[in-house]
Amino acid sequence: MDCIFCKIVADEIPCKKAYEDGDVLAFHDIYPQAPVHILVIPKAHTAAGAGEITAANSAVAGKCFEVIARLANELGLADGFRVVTNNGPAAGQTVPHLHFHLLAGKELSLAMG
Ligand code: AMP
Ligand code: ZN
Repeated sequence: MDCIFCKIVADEIPCKKAYEDGDVLAFHDIYPQAPVHILVIPKAHTAAGAGEITAANSAVAGKCFEVIARLANELGLADGFRVVTNNGPAAGQTVPHLHFHLLAGKELSLAMG
């Protein structure tokens, strides 16, 4: 499949890893929009985005949030962090492989839309 994130999972494209286990990979965004900008993804391409989460693939989405909490603790983000997922082109999604942006390290804008 011609998916950038599947290629990162397969080590065909390099990334700066923040966390990895059998199901989940977290790596630093190549164009960071905050001092901390990490992408947390299921390794398996089971959903293009949040709009495709079902009973069959929701467990790994939950695992992504476990990893987000772990990274927030490890990186000392107690002051605050934001988790964003874009679904579809009108929301700015550019990579159709489910992923969560973990953003922190500055005063984040209170505007969300
Ligand atoms: P989205 O626009 O929500 O689909 O997010 C995709 C994100 O992937 C963007 O923030 C990109 O900067 C990031 N991205 C694209 N290619 C790479 C890459 N090779 N390594 C790390 N991040 C990437
Ligand atoms: Zn993929």
